Amino acid sequence: MAIDFRVLAAELRDELVIRRRDFHMYPELGFEEFRTSGLVADELRKLGLEVQTQVGRTGVVGMLEGEHDGPTVLVRADMDALPIQELNTVDYISRVGGKMHACGHDAHMTIALGVAKILSRFRADIHGRVKFVFQPGEEGHGGALEMIKDGILKNPVPDVVLGLHVWAELPIGTIGVASGAVMSGSSVFRIVVEGKGGHAAMPYTTVDPVVCTGELIMALNTIVGRKMNAMDGAVVLSVTGVRTSSDAFNVIPQSVEIKGTFRTFNAYTSEIMEQHIRSVSTSVCASVGCEAKVTIKHLNIPVVNDVRVAKRVRKAMKQVVKASALDQTVRTMASEDVSFLLEQIPGMYFFVGMSNKAKGIIYGHHHPRFNIDEDVLPLSVALMSASVAEFVMQVK
Ligand SMILES: [Zn+2]
Ligand SMILES: [Zn+2]
Repeated sequence: MAIDFRVLAAELRDELVIRRRDFHMYPELGFEEFRTSGLVADELRKLGLEVQTQVGRTGVVGMLEGEHDGPTVLVRADMDALPIQELNTVDYISRVGGKMHACGHDAHMTIALGVAKILSRFRADIHGRVKFVFQPGEEGHGGALEMIKDGILKNPVPDVVLGLHVWAELPIGTIGVASGAVMSGSSVFRIVVEGKGGHAAMPYTTVDPVVCTGELIMALNTIVGRKMNAMDGAVVLSVTGVRTSSDAFNVIPQSVEIKGTFRTFNAYTSEIMEQHIRSVSTSVCASVGCEAKVTIKHLNIPVVNDVRVAKRVRKAMKQVVKASALDQTVRTMASEDVSFLLEQIPGMYFFVGMSNKAKGIIYGHHHPRFNIDEDVLPLSVALMSASVAEFVMQVK
């Protein structure tokens, strides 16, 4: 049986655009996706799926049961917006002050609902089931872990996890489909440099944490280039802020706080980075009589695509796009908490390009002028439908 998902998705184009713009106008932040999850649940019910709400607080799960037995494919979409004031001038601009869908999660929900709509017409041909997971709080709120805690990876255990991100770093028409680690793990650090405060005119009576902080920032910036083995994969470290305990011009403060983040492509490398940050901080501070208090939190683990699943997904995508559209080199130092699903279940997270210079769609994710070329909606619906079908339908 041959199904042309490209044609079916193209027929939905207008509907997809309307739905995405509606989500776009009413953005909600992590774990506040009440209107959003309500709309998602309504649509899934309309399509005849079995729906569970309040999974992982504001999350929704819709189960599409095929008429035959077979594997379970989990399709994941995220729902939350960002605390950003939108600066676009489109007529569907965010109606909520200070909140914006600036990452494209409005598109992700729309795409997953589009896939559910198409596949729900083919129950008779589905061998297995598709579990549609709409996740809250992706933007640093731990939404994936909340949903895992509420059982999305059980009853039944998925055989495959599939997800996508619309991607501003790629032009429309290019799809990032690499195997292995495609997004980095992220960690944050805070270092409090404790000295001994005093009068700025009498520095000899103090232990100055400001000068020490200057040295420490330089030392932290040499870790990646001088201490890490390049064979351990790409690493980036950025110091993103410095704050002293005093605002006065004539006071040497008691302490200075440094904060920052580092990204790696495997857990082993993050552990080594943690060790280096701790030892560099301790030794630089000790050399001038300060004390370093280091706190490190590992937030996300890397997103790792299963080699075999990725190969089948790429094969399926060739029904929708030319092989030349598939780029197997796309990797990013950004992170995504779909990593926690992919840690337990083999799967594939891919990037669907959607920037378009000719249409002025040139801004990156999290930018106040971020937007998508809406041609990415039907394209992604077709790509994801074909990918799911690869596992649950015998498409010949
Ligand atoms: Zn984001
Ligand atoms: Zn995102």
